[in-house]
Amino acid sequence: MDNTKVEIRKTTHHGKGIFAIDMIKKGEVIAAFDGRVYSSRSTKWNEDLYNHCIQFEEKKWRDSTGIARLINHSCEPNCGIQNLFQIVAMRNILLGEEITWDYEMTEDHPYWRMACSCGTGSCRKVIGAYGNMPGVVRKKYKKYTSTWLLDKYQK
Ligand SMILES: [Zn+2]
Repeated sequence: MDNTKVEIRKTTHHGKGIFAIDMIKKGEVIAAFDGRVYSSRSTKWNEDLYNHCIQFEEKKWRDSTGIARLINHSCEPNCGIQNLFQIVAMRNILLGEEITWDYEMTEDHPYWRMACSCGTGSCRKVIGAYGNMPGVVRKKYKKYTSTWLLDKYQK
């Protein structure tokens, strides 16, 4: 279920985005990837699907029925991933702030890459694979990284 304290708005540079219309507390669930599951073989991928599903296994992705697919990436996000599919606030979020998470908290794709222009001081410029995430960032996100990646890289 989508949190009722957010709404869809147009952003200046990144198409649609999700914004807080009330104070959100650390730990609150914002939205979830609760939609169809896709695998690499059986799916006819189009750009929309390709750019909006999240990865939750080596070759499985999931879409959302609600707003989760519209939440933009930031290299200094205010949200992260809880378990596999939930977007959760990493800190208190103020009214008017854009809701963001870091796409490498779920993705570990061998070739999908996205140029990032989030404009934050921590911007990594190109994102797409948790395997490439610097150790210091992994540490910061530890409680907010998809469990499939924590399991994969624990070995
Ligand atoms: Zn960035």
